[in-house]
Formats: sequence, C-alpha cells, structure tokens
Amino acid sequence: MKDNFSETMQKQIDFYETNYVLSIIHLNFSHKKYLGNRNNRICRFCGLTNPDTTFKMEAHALPELIGNKVLISNYECDICNKNFSRTLEDHFAKFTGLYRTMSQIGGKKGVPSFKSKDKKSRIDFENGAISIQSNIDNEIATFDEDKNQLKIHGYRQPYIPRSVYKCLVKMALSIMPEEEIINFKDTVSWLNIEKPEDDKIKTDSFVCFHSFTPGGNPFPWITVVLLKRKRDDLILPYMSFFIAFSNYTFQIFIPFSIRDKHILNKKIDLVFFPNIHHNTSKWGNVRYQLLNFSKNQIVENEKSDMTMHYDKKIRKL
Ligand SMILES: [Zn+2]
Repeated sequence: MKDNFSETMQKQIDFYETNYVLSIIHLNFSHKKYLGNRNNRICRFCGLTNPDTTFKMEAHALPELIGNKVLISNYECDICNKNFSRTLEDHFAKFTGLYRTMSQIGGKKGVPSFKSKDKKSRIDFENGAISIQSNIDNEIATFDEDKNQLKIHGYRQPYIPRSVYKCLVKMALSIMPEEEIINFKDTVSWLNIEKPEDDKIKTDSFVCFHSFTPGGNPFPWITVVLLKRKRDDLILPYMSFFIAFSNYTFQIFIPFSIRDKHILNKKIDLVFFPNIHHNTSKWGNVRYQLLNFSKNQIVENEKSDMTMHYDKKIRKL
C-alpha cells in the first residue's frame, strides 16, 4: 500500500535521479583522509600559495564541531582557516548548540553544555549521560508523562543566519573536486567578505532544507552528498550540498555559480533530498523544516526547542 509518505519520498528520489549526479562521502572511517595534494599547495579560498601564506595547520574539510576528525583539506591555508572559523563556523556552532548537546556530538572540546540565559538552568553531558538541571524560575525542560516526551526549551546564543548559510556553502566548496571551483569564483569572493555589513546582497532566497530524525543517532557518521546538475539546459541550480549527522540533515543549493546565469530570476521548484529514515523510525516521523538563512543581522533570543522520546523515567533518590 502506498501512503502519502512513500509517495513524497518517491517524488524526491525521481527528482534527484532525473536531474542530478551524486557524489557521496561517508565519514565512517577512523584514519585521516586528505583532500588534495600535500605538495604545491594553493588555497582555494584566497588563491595564495607559499610563501604568501602558510599551510601549517590541519584544516578540517567539515567543521570539527559536528564531529569531523577525519576529513582534512589540503586546499585551505592557515589565514582562511582562522578567518572562517570566526566569521562562519562560530555562527553555525551557535545555531546548532542545543542540537549538539542533546545528540552528544563532540567537537574539539567535547560535547558542549547548553545553558539558559540566566545560566541557572543547564544541560551537560557527563560520564556518558545527559544531565539536566532545570531551575524552577526558568524551566529548561518539562516532561509530558502521557506521551513519554521530554521537552527542552532553550534559546540560541545570538547568531547571524546568513553566516550559518555561508558556513554550509563553505563546506560544499571544501569537498568539491578541484576542477569545479572555477564555476564558483563569485561564491568564493562572497564567502571572503569578512564583515556582514559589507555583504550588500539583498535576497530572500538563502534557504535550507532541514530535517530532524528522532531516535538515538540515526546518522551515526557524517554523510555528505554533492549533487551536480545533469544538463545545463535544466532550470535548476548547478550544484546542491547535503549533509547528515546524528539526528540532523541540512541541504542547500550553492549560490552564484557561473553555470546558473540562465536561471536568474526564474521560479524554480525544488524538493528535499530524500532522508533515508523517512517514515521508518520507530521513534516517530522525520520532521522537515524549510529554514530561511537570508537575514544578515544578528538574531537574538531565538527559541531552540526540542522534543525527545524516552522509554522509562526513573526517579533518582
Ligand atoms: Zn587562503
């Protein structure tokens, strides 16, 4: 029997099979892999080479804060690495703060703690378990006993949505084959704008397909997919980037490609890249969301809520 869910998924599969070629990387290995040549290195973001810049640090092709310890880029110099971590990754870290605590995603300094604004309530990951201290004046967590649900009510640290989007674009450019970079010269220049106020692009189209899959670590390792348009006459973006880790997926369409001149100002219909857990999770359905990351100013006091299911509640004496 076909239900609405499997029809949705079939439509997604058909769309991507018809229009895009996929390159998939599963980070399910434990030794380090290096993208690009170690000799004669040129930074793909600033175009500089030794001795005008240096390549002493190991640049993570995908941020370490989402748990990447193995995929390293030889295409990124120390200066760009340092700049991007401040201008882009910091915002991605703030956007995903509660996610990483609740899903126990360890970065350089381990799993981050999550605190309420007054710091009286907090969630920490200690000794292999999540510990929640919820203050009565500012409850960070409530139980729904009937549904076996724990609800976390938090606020994100102030962040800039467009910088989160740029961080995803930067991940895409980091894993892209070298010969493709030439199609994204304008994208690279746009990523290199240091101050958000100097980014004058007015748009509402920096959108991201996002999903949350309930349950314990449904995506146990990071998976990234680079999607490339099959033909240049299709009225679709040249490339898309999908990333899944832990309970989350993000998908964007990489802006400003020279191959996309023919789609400017055209109405484009896009669908989510299929989530393999669609309608199969015993913990409930995958929840989909369209996020708009166009805003180029700091967003404060944004709610970041989460609902987790549990089997049993044990009262500790
Ligand atoms: Zn550089």
